[in-house]
Amino acid sequence: MLKRFPSKAAAPADLAAHQLAGLKWTVRHAFDNSPFYRERLAAAGVTPESITSLQDLDRLPFLTAQDLSDGYPFALRSAPFADLVRIHASSGTTGKRKVLCYTQQDLDDWQSMFARCYELAGLTREDRVQIAVGYGLWTAGVGFQQACEKFGALAIPVGPGNLELQTSLMIDLQTTVFCCTASMGLLLAEEVHHKGLRDKLNLKKIILGAERSSSAMLETMKEYLGVKDVYDITGLTEVYGPGTGLSCGHGSAIHYWGDYYILEILDPTTLLPVAPGEVGEMVFTTLCKQGAPLIRYRSRDLTRLVEGACPCGCTLPRHDRILGRSDDVVIFRGVNVYPGQIDEVLNGVAGTGSEYQVHLGHSEDGRDFMKIRVERAKGLDPQADLQLRKAIVSGIKHTLIVTCEVELVDYGSLPRSEKKTQRIFDERKFE
Ligand code: ZN
Repeated sequence: MLKRFPSKAAAPADLAAHQLAGLKWTVRHAFDNSPFYRERLAAAGVTPESITSLQDLDRLPFLTAQDLSDGYPFALRSAPFADLVRIHASSGTTGKRKVLCYTQQDLDDWQSMFARCYELAGLTREDRVQIAVGYGLWTAGVGFQQACEKFGALAIPVGPGNLELQTSLMIDLQTTVFCCTASMGLLLAEEVHHKGLRDKLNLKKIILGAERSSSAMLETMKEYLGVKDVYDITGLTEVYGPGTGLSCGHGSAIHYWGDYYILEILDPTTLLPVAPGEVGEMVFTTLCKQGAPLIRYRSRDLTRLVEGACPCGCTLPRHDRILGRSDDVVIFRGVNVYPGQIDEVLNGVAGTGSEYQVHLGHSEDGRDFMKIRVERAKGLDPQADLQLRKAIVSGIKHTLIVTCEVELVDYGSLPRSEKKTQRIFDERKFE
């Protein structure tokens, strides 16, 4: 299946041995070259020699965003400055930016991983790839661009926003692949529809990064832009950047590059592995990262592993789409609610549109209430409201075990933004 950027494990059965070799190398490399890791590992009673199986992962201490903030700016640096060639940074939730440093080998590895995404998405060297994500300190723009060039397709580096420029370049240069966030993709689709430009486009594929998308959003993009395939790309700045996994189009599951990192799915409270198929936090250990290796990095992103062979033929392992962040979980009447669950419910109800908002508040009697405002699908007759409301209420009740109110609004009436769209509004007052 993957010919140009195949798995580094010769056969699927060899992946575990490949991961063990990488784990041993990473612990040795971090122990020898980073005072931070040496102290952490020593405190946990771990020496590089004591790593003999993948089970030894359990003995390794966790790494968090707080550690990156505490050791700002070069918290995880495990290579001499002379060998570092670039930094990237992302905003940290705890104040300081997260800064990550890269050697040339790290950049080469990242590009190979990302180029594999383009290969899995079925691109060829003939493709023209318009890149509408952020440049600068962010990993997004340069990640999409350098991998595109390595792959051999034509990069059109526009950056985010500016719908006018996006659509005119898309027409003039006959762009075939558009890379953007889901919110940006939706805005572009609506712009193209509004101006009646669809027939002038030559767009075949959309690659979405950095943000959750609902099925309704994807359907709108496909219809308005005349596109057949939409792919989700995953990645965190801490784990190189975007390009460390891709949805192949068979369901929403994402193949991840297990030959470059180990992914554990752990219960965020107990930090023990969840049962197969259960939702938990994604914890990353890199296998060959030199500048800033990761050992059991708690990402706070939630997903579940997907078992079994994929019909696309790619044998690298899969996880589900990102179902939210363990920090975004809101506790409603004692139940953990995360946005991804609401996406899932709405995706399963025919007649819902692209956007929704969840409002949490206190009613007059002091009880918590949840009100979900949902757009009707395009052109749907409000006569069907009663049934649609019932279907949503029962879906939420079934999945989250909470009762909610539903308000249906016209398609296109909820706000959209080019960046991440806020969907949960917690208006409860806690005193
Ligand atoms: Zn697949």
